[in-house]
Amino acid sequence: MTVMIDRLAIIGVGLIGGSLARALREAGAVKSVVGIGRSRANLEDALSLGICDEISQDAVQGVRGADMVFISVPVCAIPSVVGEIAPALSPGCIVTDGGSVKAAIVRECEALMPPGCHFVGGHPIAGTEHSGAAASFATLYRGKRCILTPTERTDPAALELVARLWRLTGADVCSMEPGHHDRIFAEISHLPHAVAYALVHAVGMADVEGENVLSYTAGGFRDFTRIASSDPAMWRDIALMNREALLKSIDGFSASLAELRRRIDAGDGVGLSEFFTIAKQFRDGIL
Ligand code: NAP
Repeated sequence: MTVMIDRLAIIGVGLIGGSLARALREAGAVKSVVGIGRSRANLEDALSLGICDEISQDAVQGVRGADMVFISVPVCAIPSVVGEIAPALSPGCIVTDGGSVKAAIVRECEALMPPGCHFVGGHPIAGTEHSGAAASFATLYRGKRCILTPTERTDPAALELVARLWRLTGADVCSMEPGHHDRIFAEISHLPHAVAYALVHAVGMADVEGENVLSYTAGGFRDFTRIASSDPAMWRDIALMNREALLKSIDGFSASLAELRRRIDAGDGVGLSEFFTIAKQFRDGIL
């Protein structure tokens, strides 16, 4: 494999950034990787795990000479990180990200690019509920989708290079408009996380004659709520940044739950069977 990137800077060497670096190194697509972050301990983990060749707690210094910068910090921090590094970017540098919300990030980051540098928005549809460099692994993206969100301002060559890199990780790459991305992911990702957090919150607070009801949970509860163990800071940022679309999704869900409640309250067995059957058919249809 020919080297495609001489110097890749990863800002936020956690699950997403660390896994991208590992996959590209394994593919032989990058010559050197500099890992950038706030805490020394996580960066030292990244260095000792062979994710990076160098580490830096100074983003401005770290991105100097990079031909590509990948940003994988919580979404609300992405535009401010880009604003901070913009004056230090080398001519021709491509800046891309892995944030779970796209419209606001793409709009703000495109506007922050110095002349000759290019921003490409991205979102790999892969993850776990674990965080940090130590949670990353090279095969995370294999067989998963990666969505790129170009606009009319996106440089076609930069888009193509970012797409080729993601394909090297084993991901299936597709493109869509940033706002469309945010509406889809409000429904299929941000709403389920909100519901999982709300469910565990409610059950954790439930008082059944002083019993700790969580101690009785089994497979179903655990499967359904695994994602409520995800990093709260990451999900706070996603909820705030995709607020409008998420509120719409929560309203749709609330209406559905209210309808279910109504059928239970009315003792409407036929209505309940119909409700559960429709949901089961949708669920069974997911490949
Ligand atoms: P992570 O494992 O917690 O990694 C985030 C990294 O960013 C950490 O290494 C953290 O290190 C650094 N960081 C945190 N806040 C920062 C800030 N304000 N400024 C600079 N660095 C900061 O999280 P992740 O799961 O990789 O998620 C990273 C991004 O990927 C997020 O934008 C998320 O929306 C997106 N994403 C996540 C998933 C998923 O399932 N996890 C899937 C797709 C996309 P320090 O604290 O040491 O700085």
